Amino acid sequence: MSEPLLDVQNLRVRFPTATGPVEVVRGVSFTLGRERLGIVGESGSGKSMTGRSILRLIRKPGEVTADRLRFDGKDLLSISEREMRKVRGARISMVMQDPKFSLNPVMTVGEQIGEALAVHEKLPRRQIRERVLTMLEAVQIRDPERVFGLYPHEVSGGMGQRVMIAMMLIPEPAILIADEPTSALDVSVQGEVLKIIDELITRNGMGLIFISHDLHLVSQFCDRILVMYRGEVVEQCAASELDKASHPYTRGLLASVP
Ligand code: ADP
Ligand code: MG
Repeated sequence: MSEPLLDVQNLRVRFPTATGPVEVVRGVSFTLGRERLGIVGESGSGKSMTGRSILRLIRKPGEVTADRLRFDGKDLLSISEREMRKVRGARISMVMQDPKFSLNPVMTVGEQIGEALAVHEKLPRRQIRERVLTMLEAVQIRDPERVFGLYPHEVSGGMGQRVMIAMMLIPEPAILIADEPTSALDVSVQGEVLKIIDELITRNGMGLIFISHDLHLVSQFCDRILVMYRGEVVEQCAASELDKASHPYTRGLLASVP
């Protein structure tokens, strides 16, 4: 069998504290191809740390170890920072909860979306502009020409998140990590944003890691589910097999879902 796109084995994240090191991700293992994996669990269970550690986004003094952390034949723990930036910029993208903290306030929306193409593909300006406008249409922004020139503070939360998605998908990454991508949005726009992610992931044949505290949402959106509890994976199954889940924590979650 060929190697999976992403292979994570025995991933651990720990932080030093006054009373000794605390492990917040405790031996997480999974593989991902061009499919959708949902990571669910209550707040503080280690979901974001798991997602961020794949891209080496855990800040010091946090420490990440793994028996294996491989993407597309590369060992993500040992490649240089320069190579890692390429992976982040073009191969594995991450969308976080709140676009406000991820967008650069002094750059127009269009410039930021196109930046990855300028840096990694070195395309000429006019070509970048065309690709950005097409991408803005793909995330269902109706007047892309106007939105191209807006600054982040001039766009609403829902539009900001669509801009983020455009920015993350324009380099055509193989994997998208979406960390609670709709939690900061009004319920009325959550569905729209999910639909856009759904369509683009399917159209581009990408892998997805969808992080959420909402088991109901994840089970509808993903092929496979990984349930985390206090840093550990307590359940890993096909979304369709979730009703057969055995761990008491998962059973509790299922019982609370309408
Ligand atoms: P989730 O995304 O599931 O809500 P996180 O992955 O963000 O949870 O956090 C997991 C745990 O790591 C939490 O208990 C959190 O308090 C802890 N944590 C996060 N950052 C740090 C840090 N810098 N130092 C110590 N503990 C941290
Ligand atoms: Mg989180």
